[in-house]
Amino acid sequence: MPEAAQISSSFPTARCAVCDRYVLTYLDFESGAELRRCVHCDGAVSDDLRWINASELEAEGYQFGAPAASGGGGCGSGCGTCSVRKH
Ligand SMILES: [Zn+2]
Repeated sequence: MPEAAQISSSFPTARCAVCDRYVLTYLDFESGAELRRCVHCDGAVSDDLRWINASELEAEGYQFGAPAASGGGGCGSGCGTCSVRKH
């Protein structure tokens, strides 16, 4: 099922006004609503999400495929999201 594969390898990005670039976003449920925030500055981003795949994400400056350094944190599953969020 190509659709499922595409979804599982897509990442939500949006324009962050603070970082002045497209950034990876996460859902903040603590605010009581599904609010998208920037993984870098925690600032709210627009709802105009752009779902991109890993190679497109790398083009935006994110690193994929690098083995997690020992003790480097993250979930260790190689999902990429955790390692991005640590900074
Ligand atoms: Zn930001």
